[in-house]
Formats: sequence, C-alpha cells, structure tokens
Amino acid sequence: MTTPESRLRVANRAQVLDLLGRSAPVSRAELAQRTGLSRSTVSSIVQELLASEQIVETTGDTLARGGGRPPSLLTISGSPGTLIGVDIGHRHVRVAVADLAAKPLVEREIRLDVDNSAVETIDRAAALVRECLTEAGIDPRTDRVLGVGMGIPGPVDPHSGIVVSPILGNWMDLAPGEELARRIGLPVQIENDANLGALAEIEYGAARDIDDVIYVKASSGIGAGLVLAGKLYRGITGIAGEIGHVRFEDNGPICRCGNRGCLEKAFGGSRLVELLQPAYDETLSVERLLELAQEGDIRVNRILDDAGRAVGRVLADLCNHLNPALIVVGDTMRHSESFVLGIKDSIDRFTQPDTAAALDVVPSELGDKAGVMGALVIAGSATSAQPPGTI
Ligand SMILES: [Zn+2]
Repeated sequence: MTTPESRLRVANRAQVLDLLGRSAPVSRAELAQRTGLSRSTVSSIVQELLASEQIVETTGDTLARGGGRPPSLLTISGSPGTLIGVDIGHRHVRVAVADLAAKPLVEREIRLDVDNSAVETIDRAAALVRECLTEAGIDPRTDRVLGVGMGIPGPVDPHSGIVVSPILGNWMDLAPGEELARRIGLPVQIENDANLGALAEIEYGAARDIDDVIYVKASSGIGAGLVLAGKLYRGITGIAGEIGHVRFEDNGPICRCGNRGCLEKAFGGSRLVELLQPAYDETLSVERLLELAQEGDIRVNRILDDAGRAVGRVLADLCNHLNPALIVVGDTMRHSESFVLGIKDSIDRFTQPDTAAALDVVPSELGDKAGVMGALVIAGSATSAQPPGTI
C-alpha cells in the first residue's frame, strides 16, 4: 500500500520532471525556486533521476567567464516527451499528438457514427493514433509518450472507467479507456467530453484563472462540465453536470437516458433540426442551422433563442445552487448569438440578483478543439504533481 509520504515523493518527482520537460536546462537552485520545493528535496530527487538516467547534468559555461564556479545544469534525457489526446464526439474522432505544452504536432479527424458503433469507433481511434504517431515520427516503444487522454460523449464512472449510463447508445458497460489502451499499448485516461471542455477552457481558453465555471457543451445533445473551487466535479458516478437530462416537460417524450421530458429531448440540436425541417426544402443538420442563423434566418434564430432560454432556465437553477463566476458556451451552439443571449436572459431573470451580477456568459475560445485540448490536459496531468483541475 502506498504511504502518504511516498505519494508526496512521487508527486514531487513528477513536478521536477514536468518542469525539466518544459524548460531549457536549469540549475538545482532554479528548480527549487520554480517548484517551491526545498533545496534538499530537489537535490535528493535530482540524484535519483540522474541515477536512473532520466536526466543528464551539464556544466554551464556562460557564467564561467566571470571567474566564478560554473553552474551545474540539468536537462531531461532525449526528447522531453509527447502527449496524445483523443476526442470522440457523436459524429467524429479527433486525435492530436502534441508537445508537453499541448501544442499539437499532428492532428487528424475522421467522421463516423460513434453512438451506434463502440467497437468500430475504438478500432478507428487506435488506427488514427498510430497514423498520427507515424506522421509525427514518434515510436512509442523508443520515444517518450508521457500520457494519453481520451474523451467520450457520455458519462463514465470515474473509478472504474466504465460507461454506466444508457445515454451513449451501445457503449454501456464498456471500458473505452482500457479498450483503447489494449489496442495502442499505452495507458489511457478517460473522461466525459464536457468535463474535458471545462478543463481545456480553464487551462487554455475563456476560463483561464477562474475557479468556478460551468462549461456547457451544446450541439446535437446538451451536457455540462463543472469546475468548482478550481477542481473538476464529477459526482460519485461521473454523472454530475448532465443538464441535458434534467426534467423540462412533465409529460414530454421518453429520452435515451430512460427518463421522460428531458431538456435535450425538447431543445437539443437534433430536436431543433426536427422542428425546423418541415419549413425547408433542403436537408438540415445542426451545423446547417448555425450557418442559416449567421445568415440572419429569422425562423432559425427564433428557435435558437427559445433553446437558449430553455437551457438558461435549467442553468439558472444550477447557478442558484453553485454561484459560479462564468458559463462558457461550447460546441456548435457557441456560434449562435441568439442561443448565447437566450441563456443570458434566463440567467438574469431566474437567478438571484447577486448571483446574476457576479456571472458572465461567454462563447468558448477553443471551439471545436476544446475536447482534444482537454484530452491533452489529462494526458499531461499524468506527469504533473498538480494535475490541472482534477480531483
Ligand atoms: Zn434524458
């Protein structure tokens, strides 16, 4: 059993390695200053890393001209490492191979029906990971892959990694992270995609430096990721934030989650397409609706305003409970001003005045990249002593 002391040691060691991976050669003193660890702790960890040849020591020469003793500099052995992010949406698989700062080296995307083809989707995702690694010139047997993060468009149990809700078609009872890990030969961390959007926005996007954030993922379906007091909040079985499955109409239609009258069933993008289709000669899609909205189509903007108000009505109750500082509207619906303004109107109307006054509603900065960026965040957290926003 791991003791608290050894867990701390592992975390400190990861922090030192993480900093060395992201930096030019640094001295022991600078490592201590930048990690906040004591000099003796840094010295001890450095000895261990030198002994295991994970880092190398060189003698600096630039300061030697002054006649003083040249500083001993430390750098990571070989390549600092690579992160892999896998974002699985309802209609796509996106993979990014990135450096430790989450800057993508190679990105690829394929389109497919994810909901009804779990095994095929994981097979295709594994093939895409291999293609991206080859294109980036990385061989995971010899090069350092520091972590793989994966997002799926449904709830996943944070303890077992198993899909425990019927929300995502035939993925129920599957452990997608383990399945991908088996195919690519690397450990995989898995997370719900709305949670990844939230992590990505607080790390790289619209919610930087904000501790209480609701990330709304709105496209064909509706979900949310919650960051509370700077940490991702999943709930006991990973279902926290499923705002699309809050009861909206008492006698509404049966939903894929097993309940009836869910918000998503009434105002998710797929439902909006169904509502509008009879008024159009062309075949509509959620993406096409957003294009029509931007062209000023009054019918589409009317329904997007209604949808925004409905989502805002549910969010207003959540905000009264949680008192967040920011709502980030992500995925396809972020393009609709009517939708975002509809959310704002309901927030202003149905939350406590002080709650509304402290709260902003903004579109996502990372857009379609939020999921894969969040996957890179959790991939990177495997190497860090302070995983960004995870508990
Ligand atoms: Zn539902």
